[in-house]
Amino acid sequence: MVPISIDEFVNKKIDEKSNNNKKEIKKNILAAAKRRKNGIGCMQCNQPIWVIGSGIVGSDMCFTCITGEADDSEDYELDLVL
Ligand SMILES: [Zn+2]
Repeated sequence: MVPISIDEFVNKKIDEKSNNNKKEIKKNILAAAKRRKNGIGCMQCNQPIWVIGSGIVGSDMCFTCITGEADDSEDYELDLVL
């Protein structure tokens, strides 16, 4: 995965016009990071959760369970958990 800081992700990747609340998304991603550090796994397969994806969709799941894809090499993950 490509490491990215929370502020960089929220400022560059969340579209202001798309009705997304950046503050809320930031809070949700950081909360997911905390849960991952506490050992919470994907609710479907128990793999380590994808923190950015889990924060956005609101469920603790891994990259594959969220996207249906196996290749995560071009997707972002929070630098704090990599
Ligand atoms: Zn999973």
